[in-house]
Amino acid sequence: MEEQTRTIVQQSLNALLENETFLPELKGDMRKTAFTSLSAILSTPNQIHKSFLRIPLEEGEVIRIPSYRVHHNDALGPYKGGIRFHESVNEEEVVNLAFLMTLKNALHNVPFGGGKGGIIIDPKAFTERELQRICIKYVRYFNNVLGPDKDIPAPDVGSGEREMDWMMAEYKKINQGQPYLGSFTGKSVVNGGSLGRREATGKGVYFTFRYLLNDYVKPNEETLAASSNPFAKTAVEYVDRPLNVAVQGFGNVGSVTALEAFRCQHIQNKVVAVSDRNVTLFNADGLDIPALVNFTATNRGDLPTTPEQLKEINVSAEIRSREEILTMNVDVLFLAALENQLTDQNKEQIKARIIVEGANAPTTKEADDYLSEKGVVIIPDILANAGGVIVSYLEWLQGRETQFYTEEQVHTQLLEKMKNTMDIILPQYFGDPFPLRQNCYIHSVTRLSTVLYKQGKLY
Ligand code: GLU
Repeated sequence: MEEQTRTIVQQSLNALLENETFLPELKGDMRKTAFTSLSAILSTPNQIHKSFLRIPLEEGEVIRIPSYRVHHNDALGPYKGGIRFHESVNEEEVVNLAFLMTLKNALHNVPFGGGKGGIIIDPKAFTERELQRICIKYVRYFNNVLGPDKDIPAPDVGSGEREMDWMMAEYKKINQGQPYLGSFTGKSVVNGGSLGRREATGKGVYFTFRYLLNDYVKPNEETLAASSNPFAKTAVEYVDRPLNVAVQGFGNVGSVTALEAFRCQHIQNKVVAVSDRNVTLFNADGLDIPALVNFTATNRGDLPTTPEQLKEINVSAEIRSREEILTMNVDVLFLAALENQLTDQNKEQIKARIIVEGANAPTTKEADDYLSEKGVVIIPDILANAGGVIVSYLEWLQGRETQFYTEEQVHTQLLEKMKNTMDIILPQYFGDPFPLRQNCYIHSVTRLSTVLYKQGKLY
């Protein structure tokens, strides 16, 4: 992961050095010095907060759970990012994810910096009461560095509304008399959360894909077909054609992405495969996604794993191993599980020509380079999965104003914001030969460099 972070920083910076928009007002040595300080700022987080949460289990034993809150950069506003509950969390990973949040917020012009939290547990191995204690302790330990104008956590892998509600309640208790609605986002609606927040990431993920193809490539089809840009050549092949879709991951992001794709059946797109931590389900004629979503709601979030369970809900599908989803013969692959899924080992077997990153960092550098070389269109994490943090921003605003928007208002603003970013990025992407990820980095880092320079932090 550390390796990955360094690569990401390096890629963005290299791209930036070649880019004339990097502080054009500075010349010669001054530009170089500013560049060196920018590189130092981006490659190290501002602070890493670490703590061992002492948690009494229901059976009486007391365990110590390592947990983190990383503040990467706050040039654009308070630190912002989710708290991951997963057994594979580690410090490097949280740092890397916090860095991605800095880039993501800068890319979409969200007035937040980048932060991230992590708790090293398998949440499914704890009772509800124990999980509540973990959340309460997390807030007690990190209270000093949290707050609506300092650092605003949100859900991530393994956490959701329930955890945010518990955490906000503890924050409120400790900081009596202070504003608290903006201290956590991703809360339940009755607790000051925003309508539409739960679906926001998945909706945004599907929207980026549809917007790229239907709203950018289609109207520019002739010009793009004639251009020598490898990604333009790939994209035009997929316009106005029925597409087979696979979605890896069936949690909050994957299930909504799959539902959105399913609802677009009228353009003859088919969701032929979905997967989770246990299985891949495949049906060449398309899967009944709403039935699968209903099933997971009563099965601790897991997809059916046996023919009997499938029969019970009247879904016909072949049961395959969970890894198979990645190498299936599909047109579009949505990655909505964890990081490091497309790797050096499986990169040659990937058949999808359009890949959309609903998860953070699901493609390793080796796979990314290989697939980009082959003209595969990869819509990167910081562009595709920003729906969550964009609606978190709207939730934070609503909390401050104690005025709440309708679901339609929320989704309209969400898509508007993503559209604005894509209207800047897509012409650059199809105009020059850089992969989309690089274009996004250039844009984010350029914005950050201007802000940091004006704040007097680049010298
Ligand atoms: N965890 C989500 C992400 O990685 C959402 C963060 C937020 O809403 O602050 O983008």
